[in-house]
Amino acid sequence: MGRRRKRKTIKIVKKKLPKYFVCPRCGARSVVVVVEGEMAKVKCSQCGLSANLQIVGPSHPVDIYCRFSDLFYAGKIG
Ligand SMILES: [Zn+2]
Repeated sequence: MGRRRKRKTIKIVKKKLPKYFVCPRCGARSVVVVVEGEMAKVKCSQCGLSANLQIVGPSHPVDIYCRFSDLFYAGKIG
């Protein structure tokens, strides 16, 4: 007979790192933000531009990436 199928599919969307961001130097979407404790490593796998940033306040990769590009445009990295 008919099987009662009660399938509850719960999709858990894992927001997993790494996420890729656009590199301010070479323009490739290859910048990775890796959060390690109180530090964040930001690196472009295309041109090698990288920086270690201390995490202050929000630690979303996008926040860190923003600081990374700010620093780059300020001439502090690269
Ligand atoms: Zn790059």
